[in-house]
Amino acid sequence: MAITLMELPYPKDALEPIISAKTLDFHYGKHHNAYVTNANKLVAGTKFENLDLENIICQTVGDSAKAGIFNNTAQVWNHSFYWQCMKPGGGGAPSGPIAEKINADFGSYKTLVDELKNAGATQFGSGWAWLILENDKLKVTKTANADTPLAHGQKPLLTIDVWEHAYYLDYQNRRPDYLSAFLEKLVNWDFVNSCLS
Ligand code: MN
Repeated sequence: MAITLMELPYPKDALEPIISAKTLDFHYGKHHNAYVTNANKLVAGTKFENLDLENIICQTVGDSAKAGIFNNTAQVWNHSFYWQCMKPGGGGAPSGPIAEKINADFGSYKTLVDELKNAGATQFGSGWAWLILENDKLKVTKTANADTPLAHGQKPLLTIDVWEHAYYLDYQNRRPDYLSAFLEKLVNWDFVNSCLS
């Protein structure tokens, strides 16, 4: 089966002014699209050609001979997940099951926000900040480059792309401002709740 570029769940200008249409034009239309194109080229004619994305990722993680396939397929998955983690008018404190789970595992929503901001700001170079579920406990993690919790037995619930291409046109070097704005104005907690169940 071909690896496909998912449709954005909203128009490209829907996240303005937090994330500009120009950023989404490049980030989705160029970066994400290129990962899809490269992933399809790299798996063509290999034993991975007919596997779904999750299986390709889990079967190539840590294999240096398969780094190209891992990097491109994981980036396709990470970006498809990232778009769904945002919505116009989102962000702020959650409700529903995730709100109770955050209070149980972090003590408060504020602690979660502090941990996510810290993970995103301290990821050296390119990567991702995550809220994940592991052994039925919520945790905040960060991964470098294309790496993804999916490949390490963890269940992703929320991610923030901290590659420069995610924020540089709108925030330049102010990654912490992008992280704050993402958490205050964009998080799609309905999606996070759907991942938790
Ligand atoms: Mn990205």
